[in-house]
Amino acid sequence: MAQEQANTQTEAKPKAEKQTNCPVCNKPIKRLKRFYRNGIFYCARKCWLANKKKTAEEKNAAENKK
Ligand SMILES: [Zn+2]
Repeated sequence: MAQEQANTQTEAKPKAEKQTNCPVCNKPIKRLKRFYRNGIFYCARKCWLANKKKTAEEKNAAENKK
């Protein structure tokens, strides 16, 4: 019974370890140098800001189309 509980807990964990590359520059993210923002890992603060800006621009473009 105790083993079943342990298995359930392991499966319930979110699989956030899968992302290993930066979505902006596609560089592999090292453990010590990663920025976690809004569910996404970035290799550096610079890349986070770049993606943030890009997302904001896309949002603005979508709103202007209305
Ligand atoms: Zn990057």
